[in-house]
Amino acid sequence: MSPARPALRERVAAPVGRRIRVRGAVQGVGFRPFVHRQATALGLSGWVTNTPDGVTIEASGTQADIDSLIDAIAHAPPPNAQVAGIEIDEIAAAAQTGFAIRASQIAGVASAEILPDIATCDACLAELFDPANRRHLYPFVNCTHCGPRYSIVEAIPYDRARTSMRRFPLCPACQAEYDDPADRRFHAEANACPVCGPSLTLRDGEGRTLARFHGALLATVTALCQGRIVAVKGIGGFHLMCDAGNEASVQRLRQRKHRPDRPLAVMFPSLAALEVECPVSPLECDLLCGPAHPIVLLRRLGDAVAPSVAPGNPWLGAMLPYAPLHHLLLSEFGRPLVATSANVSDETIVTDEADALRRLGGIAELFLVHDRPIVRPLDDSVVRVVAGRELVLRRARGLAPLAIPVAGVAAGILAVGGHLKTTIAVSRAGSVVLGPHIGDLETLAARDAHRRAIDDSTSLMGGAIGRVAHDMHPDYPSTGEARALDRPMIAVQHHLAHVVACMADNGIEPPVLGVAWDGTGFGADGTIWGGEFIVVEPESWRRVAHLRTFPLPGGEAVAREPRRAALGLLYASFGADALEMTDLPAVSSFTAAERRVLGGMLERGVNCPATSSAGRFFDAVAALCGLRQRASYEGQAAAELEWAADGATAHRAYEFPVAEGEEGESIVDWRPALASILEDVRAGIAPGAISAALHAGLAAAIVVVARRIGIPRVALTGGCFQNARLTETSIGALRAAGFEPIWHRRVPPNDGGIALGQAVWASRVAQRSLPPCV
Ligand SMILES: [Zn+2]
Ligand SMILES: [Zn+2]
Repeated sequence: MSPARPALRERVAAPVGRRIRVRGAVQGVGFRPFVHRQATALGLSGWVTNTPDGVTIEASGTQADIDSLIDAIAHAPPPNAQVAGIEIDEIAAAAQTGFAIRASQIAGVASAEILPDIATCDACLAELFDPANRRHLYPFVNCTHCGPRYSIVEAIPYDRARTSMRRFPLCPACQAEYDDPADRRFHAEANACPVCGPSLTLRDGEGRTLARFHGALLATVTALCQGRIVAVKGIGGFHLMCDAGNEASVQRLRQRKHRPDRPLAVMFPSLAALEVECPVSPLECDLLCGPAHPIVLLRRLGDAVAPSVAPGNPWLGAMLPYAPLHHLLLSEFGRPLVATSANVSDETIVTDEADALRRLGGIAELFLVHDRPIVRPLDDSVVRVVAGRELVLRRARGLAPLAIPVAGVAAGILAVGGHLKTTIAVSRAGSVVLGPHIGDLETLAARDAHRRAIDDSTSLMGGAIGRVAHDMHPDYPSTGEARALDRPMIAVQHHLAHVVACMADNGIEPPVLGVAWDGTGFGADGTIWGGEFIVVEPESWRRVAHLRTFPLPGGEAVAREPRRAALGLLYASFGADALEMTDLPAVSSFTAAERRVLGGMLERGVNCPATSSAGRFFDAVAALCGLRQRASYEGQAAAELEWAADGATAHRAYEFPVAEGEEGESIVDWRPALASILEDVRAGIAPGAISAALHAGLAAAIVVVARRIGIPRVALTGGCFQNARLTETSIGALRAAGFEPIWHRRVPPNDGGIALGQAVWASRVAQRSLPPCV
C-alpha cells in the first residue's frame, strides 16, 4: 500500500469542521433558512441556531465548501440582514449528515440586533390581492422579508415563542410553510393566516363590537367616506385617520386633538397617487418605498389634500401604506387619508386597545383594532431630503433600533437622552444602539415609556449596564431616571452631545468645530446655551464661541411665545425704549399692562434668564417680522420663518460681526443684524426677504467663526439644522471658504440624537479614567 494515497485523499476530501459566529442584524430576516439553503446546496453537514448575540453555525465539509458558505454570509446575505462581524473557530468535523436548524439558545449575553419592522414586500402584496390565495385580503400577511419585528419582540433571541405572536398557534398549513426550508415563510416568526392568525374588529367609542374581519375593514372605509375619525391600530401604535380631502373632518380632528397648526401626516394609496400631489425625486422615491417606509417631507403642489392638513406649509408629510392593513384600507378608500400618531399632545403613541378607548375616546368615533399585541410603541419615522441626501428628523419605526457603528466605543453605557424628542442609547463594543423616538418627557405617560425603554435596554439592546450617561440639566426627568439607576453617572453637556452625535453619524474623528444651534440646553456654566460653537478634541472639548446673550422674559414661557424672545432681544439692544416700540407687531401684541409687567421683570432681571439660543433668536425674528407671536408647537415660529423664505433670494446678508468676549471666547453679535431687520420691517420688506437675508447672514457668521478657529471640519447640529435652508446655505458658505461641512443623516440633528452623543462621549470619559493596563 502506497503511503502517499491516503494522504492525498485526506488533502482533497477529508472533512473539516468550523464554528461560524455571525453578529449583526441577523435575526428575523430569514438568516437561518438562508444558511440552511446554502449549506444544503454545498453538501455541508451541521446546524445553525439563533443565539443571544447573533447566529451560530457549525458546519462540516470540505474547506472549499465551507469557504463558499462564509463567502455567501459575508457578501450575499438575505436582503434585510446586516452582518457586523464573523468569527470562525476550528472544531472537529462532525460525523452526522444533513444540515439542521436548531432551536434557539437562550443563555448568554443578549446583544443580537433586533431588526426594525419592515414594510410589506411585493410577494406578500401580490398574495394579499390575489383572490386565489389563501391570504387574499388578510391584513396580517407577512414573510421572512417583511412584517413586524421590533414592535412584537418580547425577548431575544427572536423566535415566535418570544414575540407577541406566541398566542397564535400555527395552523397546519402555516406550520408546513414555517418548517419548509424552501418556503418564503420558513421560520417567519410572525407567520399568520386567516385560520390561525390575528384578526380585525371594529368597535364604537363604548368598546362594543360593530363588525369583524373584512367586514370591519369595509365598515371603517364607509365611516371614513362619511367624514368620521377612526383610530386604527397599526404596527407600532394607533393612527388617527380621516379623509385628508375633507376639510371639515380634518378641522374636527384638530379641535379634538388640541392641535391647531402642527402638520398632519398623510398616507397615499400609491406612489402614483402621491406624485399627482407632490413632485417626488428619485431619492425621495427610494425613501418612500424603502424597507422603512417613513413619512417623507415633500413639496406640496396639488390640492387633493385639505388646507388645514398643513396650514401655511409648503411641505407635506407623506407616506405610503406599509402594513397590509393599510394597503387594504387605502385601496378600498382610494384617496389619501390623514394618518397621524394617536396620542394626546406630545405623549407617547397609544398602543393598547383599552388605553385607546380611554385616551382617544374624545377624539375618535370608531376604533379599528386587532388582537396582535404591540410590545413597544413605535411612531412613524420622519425624513426629509436636505443638501441632496436624506436627513432623519424622527428615528422610529423601520429605522430603530439599528446599531450605529462607532469606532472605539466601549460597551456597557446607557444614555438616557434629554427632555424633548427623547431617545435612549446603549453602547456595545464598536457600536451604539439608538432606541426609537419616545417623545417629550413632559407627561407621566412619556416618562413611563422612557422608564420602560430603560428597563428594556439591558435585556434587548445590550449587555450589562456599567455607567449611565445623562444631560447636565439637574432637573430633567431623564437625569432623575439616571440617578435612580444607582450606577456611576457621567454628565454630558447638551450641545457637546449634539456635536458628538453628528460626528458619530458621519464616522468622523476629532478635531471638529461643532456648530450646535437649538432651542435651549443647560450650559456648563449653568446658563442657558443654544447658539454654540464647540471644539471637540480627542481628549477634551471647549466652547469657543456663542451667540451674544439676551434675556428671555418668562423663562420657559418664551418657547410658546416667540414675541417674548423678540422683546428680550429688543430690550438687550434698546433698554426700556423697547417697550414703546409698538409699531412692531411683536411689541404691540402685548397689552400695555403686560408690557409694564414684562418691563419690570426685564429691568430687575426677575425670571429673565440670559441665553445664547439660536432657536430663540429665530423665534424672535419670526415675531419681529409679524409671522408668529404665539406658537402651538415646538419650533413652529422658526419653521414658519424657513417656509417664508421659500423661493426668495437674499437681497442682502444681515451682519453678525464676531468679536472677542471676556472669557476669550468669540461672540457672534446680532445687534447690527437686529438694526437692519427693524429697518426692513419698518420699510415694509416682506418676511420672506428678511428670512432669506437672515439665513445668509448666519451662514456667513459660521464661516467667520470657522476661520478664527481654523479646524477644517465643521459639524452642523442641533434642532436649528432641521431647517433645510439654514443647513444648505451654511454647507454652501463653508465649502466656498474651503471648509468641510458635515451634517446629520441617519441620526436626527434635534434632541432625538443626543443619547447617541451622550453614549459616545461617556465612553471616552470612562476609557480615560481606566487604569492604563486595562
Ligand atoms: Zn413578505
Ligand atoms: Zn395559519
